[in-house]
Amino acid sequence: MAGVRRQLGEFIYWSFEPVLPEVGAVFTGRHGGVSEGPFATLNLAFHVGDEEGAVRRNRETVYRHLNLQPGNVVIAEQVHGAAVAVVDRRYAGVGALGPPELPNVDALITAVPGLVLGGLFADCVPVYLYDPVRQVIGLIHAGWRGTAAGIAARAVDVMVRTFGTRPEDCLAAMGPAIGPCCYRVGDDVARAFWSLYGADGCPCLKPAEEGRPPHGTQGRGGPRGEDSSARTGRWRLDLLLANRRWLVAAGLRETRIVDSGLCTACRTDLFFSHRRSGGRTGRCGAFIWLAGGRR
Ligand SMILES: [Zn+2]
Repeated sequence: MAGVRRQLGEFIYWSFEPVLPEVGAVFTGRHGGVSEGPFATLNLAFHVGDEEGAVRRNRETVYRHLNLQPGNVVIAEQVHGAAVAVVDRRYAGVGALGPPELPNVDALITAVPGLVLGGLFADCVPVYLYDPVRQVIGLIHAGWRGTAAGIAARAVDVMVRTFGTRPEDCLAAMGPAIGPCCYRVGDDVARAFWSLYGADGCPCLKPAEEGRPPHGTQGRGGPRGEDSSARTGRWRLDLLLANRRWLVAAGLRETRIVDSGLCTACRTDLFFSHRRSGGRTGRCGAFIWLAGGRR
């Protein structure tokens, strides 16, 4: 497993230091905050219906534990699109303690030491990128739409064009996300991946077993906010494999891509899961920064 579990009081997070050396790269769990109900307790998102004051306190808690200055953090809006933004010092603090101000962006790239790239997650795949030669980092929010649109490869491409990154130098880690064990989808979603690989050859789609509901959905939550295919979808979608293939297509070495091995929908004791909760839940945070700068 790629992430090392760390704990400070009730606050639990996963660190990707072993695979991304010289970089801070973490994923926060759901414990150690002050939010209540479906957002209990460390919800980091303002847009999900939680109390704004609670979310702000939760973010402050995370920054304090990780020794991050809010004024150095950038968090974008994330719209399940495929837009990539390169950010510099001018963006420091944007979206750090309030609702997002950097609209329509699902991937952030920077070469500024100490600038902290942040993202919010509840099942979507957090992809951390690091170019140790050019000293460039990236953080990608890859849900099924962004994955189908190749956001991971687009982000690598932006690093290549902007900073002269050689993809074969890059390291990538994928944090906790919904796994194929729990991510059942219908033909509407599957179609987006067939168009990439062809109906017969898509390795990231496997037929779901007939009559067997996806792991953990029995008697929990409800259909509210959940897409209609959650229980009936004919396919299991492997978002991690799909993103891995995009990274390899962009030129990364297979051996330099790792994932956490943790499914957010299997482990709602540790993480928020949009699918497993029926849509009303909080968001965990992913953060990455280049070491060496004041953060
Ligand atoms: Zn699972």
